[in-house]
Amino acid sequence: MHVIYGGTFDPIHHGHLRLAVELRERLGVAEVSLMPCHVPPHRDVPGATSEQRVALLELAIADEPGLTLDERELGRGGASYTAETLRQIRGELGPDKPLTMVLGTDSFAGFDRWQEWQRIPELAHIVVVRRPGPGLEPGSVPARLLEQRAVGDAGALYAAPCGHILELDPPLLDISATGIRDRILSGRSPRYLLPDAVWQEIRRQGLYGA
Ligand code: ATP
Repeated sequence: MHVIYGGTFDPIHHGHLRLAVELRERLGVAEVSLMPCHVPPHRDVPGATSEQRVALLELAIADEPGLTLDERELGRGGASYTAETLRQIRGELGPDKPLTMVLGTDSFAGFDRWQEWQRIPELAHIVVVRRPGPGLEPGSVPARLLEQRAVGDAGALYAAPCGHILELDPPLLDISATGIRDRILSGRSPRYLLPDAVWQEIRRQGLYGA
């Protein structure tokens, strides 16, 4: 099974990395592919360029063979629409291999506003990671979609190439990229929230106002 975990990663931090490792173990895969987005269509412009974010990601996963980097959304340029990305990956994997994308409850809550969202379950499974916050609005399109497509365990994802939704509730570290950028900008230390090598590179390049 191919598992992709997308995000802005601006910058990558231990919250992301811990989740990636938890996912790898809970989904029973050899690797999880981190996929930074180029121009995020649903959020503010990032604080570092794509190349800078990738350089930080490379440093973060350099000694961890279970985490890989998928740069396809950067290479394509322009807005990154998940349906388009999944179609491309599906083309490479062929029709039968399970493909799974991971997102947080907060993102999934707005799923029906995504470009071509109806196509997405025809291309991949979805793992929804529960995050603190209000959760899904009862009766909303994403809540109904989850009801219709929910499976109880990761094993079910191996039985079909796409179409299932699995909710997971792994332990999450209380770290956000916004909090890290705020600390750096105000001259406080973000140390231990992200890998040391990443923090050193941020300082070396003077990113985020460091
Ligand atoms: P920002 O603070 O800039 O919004 P972020 O830290 O939330 O950034 P993103 O790059 O937006 O990071 O997140 C990528 C993915 O990682 C999203 O699916 C998000 O739900 C998830 N994520 C973010 N922070 C954590 C965390 N501390 N633990 C687990 N998952 C996280």
